[in-house]
Amino acid sequence: MNSFSQDHCLICHDIILPAIGWRALFSIEKEHFICLVCEGKLEKIEGDTCRICSRSFRQLDEQFRDGDLCHDCFRWEGDIEWQGFLEKNTSLFLYNDFLKEVIAKFKFRGDYLLAKVFTDSIRGKLTQMAFDQLVPIPLSEERLYERGFNQAAALLAVAGFTPSEILNRIHSEKQSKKSRSERIHVPQVFKILPDMNLEGQRIVLIDDIYTTGSTLRHAAKLLKEAGAASIQSLTLAR
Ligand SMILES: [Zn+2]
Ligand SMILES: [Zn+2]
Repeated sequence: MNSFSQDHCLICHDIILPAIGWRALFSIEKEHFICLVCEGKLEKIEGDTCRICSRSFRQLDEQFRDGDLCHDCFRWEGDIEWQGFLEKNTSLFLYNDFLKEVIAKFKFRGDYLLAKVFTDSIRGKLTQMAFDQLVPIPLSEERLYERGFNQAAALLAVAGFTPSEILNRIHSEKQSKKSRSERIHVPQVFKILPDMNLEGQRIVLIDDIYTTGSTLRHAAKLLKEAGAASIQSLTLAR
């Protein structure tokens, strides 16, 4: 790509104006996949957040916090069946209406290229994290067939990382329609593929959205019990 080419925003398809001036001529321009308007609609999660799930405390009422944890994480961590499995979730952006639409286009309407929108942020975050394996949360076979690709694996692959596809889903994705207590008490949702040695591995789980945290915690528990040293997660939206 050179400074004179005109590219289209992957989200709104408007033309991205080429950078002009000395810097553009003499430096290798960073590739721009989205326009400034769309970039402005992606809200980075910054500031004070829950120590575990990275929920922003900005608009969260004091009554939903317990110290440096949100009330939800506080409850998970207060349950000996679940405490300590998911060390930390990092989410990159607020799940606002704009991002909701982008993610829907990406995963339900099969716009695989939209993964590029998040490449820089994912790379930026992963370079700050210590890990041995990046494990995308798997889809069930039916879902994978419907969509054609696993969105979490796609985010990694497009950003130049190799996903370790070591988990399989043994139950359907309809988690979020259940109550919290049903979610906690469902039997394990995933299984580990045979012959995986996870002893001492630092694993980062990858998913598009952190909703209840239940899916990630199920995966974290399974991997930890199989010998993994630590489990963190990286999600696009929270
Ligand atoms: Zn745009
Ligand atoms: Zn939390």
